[in-house]
Amino acid sequence: MKTLFTLLTALILILSSCVSIAQSPKPPDRQVAITIDDLPGGMANRLPASEITAMTAKLLTTLRDQKVPVVGFVNEKSLYKPGEVDERIKMLQMWLDYGFELGNHTFSHISLNQSGLKAWEDDVIQGESVIKLLLTARKMKLRYFRHPFLDTGRDLETRREAEAFLVERGYRIAPITLDGWDWMFAGVYEDAKKRNDTALQQQLVKEYLAFHEASIAYAEQLSLKVVGYEPKQILLLHASNLEADHIDELLDMLRKRGYRFITLGDALSDSAYSLPDTYVGEEGSGWLEHWAITQGKIPQGAPPFPQWVIDRSRTMQLPTGQVSADQQQY
Ligand SMILES: [Zn+2]
Repeated sequence: MKTLFTLLTALILILSSCVSIAQSPKPPDRQVAITIDDLPGGMANRLPASEITAMTAKLLTTLRDQKVPVVGFVNEKSLYKPGEVDERIKMLQMWLDYGFELGNHTFSHISLNQSGLKAWEDDVIQGESVIKLLLTARKMKLRYFRHPFLDTGRDLETRREAEAFLVERGYRIAPITLDGWDWMFAGVYEDAKKRNDTALQQQLVKEYLAFHEASIAYAEQLSLKVVGYEPKQILLLHASNLEADHIDELLDMLRKRGYRFITLGDALSDSAYSLPDTYVGEEGSGWLEHWAITQGKIPQGAPPFPQWVIDRSRTMQLPTGQVSADQQQY
């Protein structure tokens, strides 16, 4: 009887450990390249250089310590604040000092869809001056370009001409496939931080993490429908105090979903980035949506952006772009 009892206990233990394994399946092996736009900072016009420098140091320290490769995309117009130019150029140097790479995001964050091709091309060229010098001094090449607002052209002719122009200047276009609209949270966070409203900051961070996770889960599903597998993804983030203070929590969430962090060059080696793409539209969007629409599929099921964050942004007269609870931007 005692033996039977022991056997039963052993069986129960084995079964329960099987159940616990089944409850927490190992996440699939996933890969993502992190890109950060609007350097030296999305709020660079509103913040003094000392604060942007502190934000940059904090953000880059976390990324370096966690060995996350990043390309940062620059708007050089933000460097030209009287009396602060040297200090602001030093912020870009910090990115290189910490071992990261810089790309061009145009001089003034100009939209190809709004400006017309010629003005846009001029802005691309103007956006190269400082970063080219900084990269050359380190024997690096300026090789990546990110479209502001993800606007790639309202018609196919403009889109293709702009792409040919970029290729001719030695650029590889940096697409994006993952986007949790961090810039929308970042503006409200900045204000809450300034006012020492810690409750609001916590609420925003919780929402920012939840919305990123929902957006990433959506992109993974869309990947399967459009690409047939989950390609090496590219995540779009923006330089801000929100990221400086909380990117570690975002990286943790990504790791829990099975993501490893890879370089942008590695991500672009995925054949998904050669899929047919004839997307044109008024609104910029991610490349999974480009491929879906090219295939005649309508992307559906994107998570709604929290309305209260949009409302607060509007109250504070922050840019909300074309954002609505079910539309995407940047
Ligand atoms: Zn941008």
